[in-house]
Amino acid sequence: MKIAIDGPAGAGKSTIARTLSRELGFIYIDTGAMYRALTLKALMNNISIEDSEALCELAQIIDIHFEYNFNEQKLICEAEDLTDLIRSPQVSAAVSTVASFPEIREIMVKRQQEMARNHSVVMDGRDIGECVLPDADYKFYLTASIEERSRRRLEELQSAGYKADMDATKKEILVRDMKDTQRQTGALKILDDSIVIDTSDLTATQVLGRILSIIRGE
Ligand code: C5P
Repeated sequence: MKIAIDGPAGAGKSTIARTLSRELGFIYIDTGAMYRALTLKALMNNISIEDSEALCELAQIIDIHFEYNFNEQKLICEAEDLTDLIRSPQVSAAVSTVASFPEIREIMVKRQQEMARNHSVVMDGRDIGECVLPDADYKFYLTASIEERSRRRLEELQSAGYKADMDATKKEILVRDMKDTQRQTGALKILDDSIVIDTSDLTATQVLGRILSIIRGE
C-alpha cells in the first residue's frame, strides 16, 4: 500500500506520517529531508543554490538514504548523520530554490520511486500524490492556518536550540509556500483525489485517528 501526504510547511505532515507509518508497520520516507540534504551539501561545498548545473551534478552522485535507529529515522548523507543539521534556518531559507529546478526534481523523484518500490510506504512532501506516487492508494493533503503553522515551526526551531521569532518564522514559511506552489514542476497543489484535512484545531492524535479510520474504512 502507498500513502501520499502532501501539504505546506508546518501542516503537521512529518509528525503524522511518522506515527502513521509506525501504526501500520510501513516505511516512512520524508522527501523534504532529501531536498534539505542536497541543499545542505551544496551550501557546505560552496555551490550556488542558483547554479542548477552544479546542483544537478551533485544530486546525481550524492548518496542520501535513511537509517532506522530504535524507531527514529536518521538521514544519512555520504556516511554522515545530517538529521539535525538539515533543519537549520539556513537550509530552510535555501531549499525551495534548490527544489525549484525541474532537472533536480527529476533525479529526486526517481530516487523516491525507487525507495518505495516493493514496500508499503507513507511518503510526505509536496508532489507525492501528483508525481512520485500518482497511483497511491490514499492521497492526503494536510493544511493549517498560517498562524498555526508558524507557531508549530517556531516551537520546533526553539526546541532545537535556534533563536527565532514569530515574524521571521512566518515570513520564512510564506516565502517557501509561494515558491513551492508557484514553480513549474512538482508544485504543491490539492489534487482531484486529495483528501484534505485542516489540522489547525486538531491534535496530532485526532489527525491520526481520522486518517486511520479512512484507511480502515470505518
Ligand atoms: O517537508 P519540508 O518542509 O522539510 O521540505 C522542505 C522543502 O523541500 C520544501 O519547502 C520544498 O521546497 C521542498 N520539497 C519539495 N518536494 C517534496 C518535498 C519537499 O519540493 N516532495
